[in-house]
Amino acid sequence: MEVRNIIFVLLLGASSLVLAEDLTKAMMYLSEFGYLPPSVRNPSFDQLLSQEALTDAIKEFQSFTGLNVTGKLDDETKHTMNMPRCGVEDKSFRTKTRSKRYARYGTKWSNKDLTYKISKYPSRLSRSQTDSELKKAFRVWSDVTPLTFKQRSSGPVTIEIRFEKGRHGHGNPFDGPGKVLAHASFPSAEDSFVHFDDSEHWTVDSYRGTNLFQVAVHEFGHSLGLSHSEKKSAVMYPTHRYKPNFKLDDDDIAGIQSLYGKRRKPAPKKPAQPPKAPGDRNCKEETVEKVINNVRFTVKTKKCSWSYFL
Ligand SMILES: [Zn+2]
Ligand SMILES: [Zn+2]
Repeated sequence: MEVRNIIFVLLLGASSLVLAEDLTKAMMYLSEFGYLPPSVRNPSFDQLLSQEALTDAIKEFQSFTGLNVTGKLDDETKHTMNMPRCGVEDKSFRTKTRSKRYARYGTKWSNKDLTYKISKYPSRLSRSQTDSELKKAFRVWSDVTPLTFKQRSSGPVTIEIRFEKGRHGHGNPFDGPGKVLAHASFPSAEDSFVHFDDSEHWTVDSYRGTNLFQVAVHEFGHSLGLSHSEKKSAVMYPTHRYKPNFKLDDDDIAGIQSLYGKRRKPAPKKPAQPPKAPGDRNCKEETVEKVINNVRFTVKTKKCSWSYFL
């Protein structure tokens, strides 16, 4: 039985005006991002999905993304499902230790000094801009943890980065402009990767196109072991919206530091040396009276002291 037929059966049992096409799209979406089993997307799927299972999945999605939990495919829910987002699923059977907000996948790197290489660059952004935006994105995480990231041009690395289109020898093909922007693997002994959809128009510091730096910060969060957060202001929230003054949310910092700890304190500064420039001296002229052999002398002296700031 085709998926469309299943929906039709569902509609017969539900007094709903939701279009079959919308419902099919929603089911595919809910299955792709972990709210319904992956088998729902299989063309040979021949089981009847109950109205209750679908309503529960919609409710779970609404709760995760901070929408009104109605269990109905309302406009707000459809709008959120159409937003650009990360291709990693929101609900994973591996997701462990979910706190109220951030979530850890359950694996992390034991080594603190990690490496990466960009094996395939984007078609519409220069190599130097790509290098610098991705370096900046790694720095966001190394600023709050003891981790370090070094770019290599060849050889084995911790994380391999590629810009790919459509099918790219990977379980989930990219879907063209919009919707899914990128996906990444969690820390594992096998090949760890971050893939960006090369059909997106990747841009730098702009509302136009899709901001590479901010999407990269999110994907690198997965590479380090974070799952999606339910907190809208967190970079690990699943949908993407450009923020001109980007910074990590407290929730992201709490998540990553729960895996790797805080950044080591910088070495104490050396005490400042007295300045050598003559202009930095404070000098006072003093007049002193002296009496030698009953003769009174007036002696002028100059006293100088060094002043400097620590
Ligand atoms: Zn993600
Ligand atoms: Zn991929």
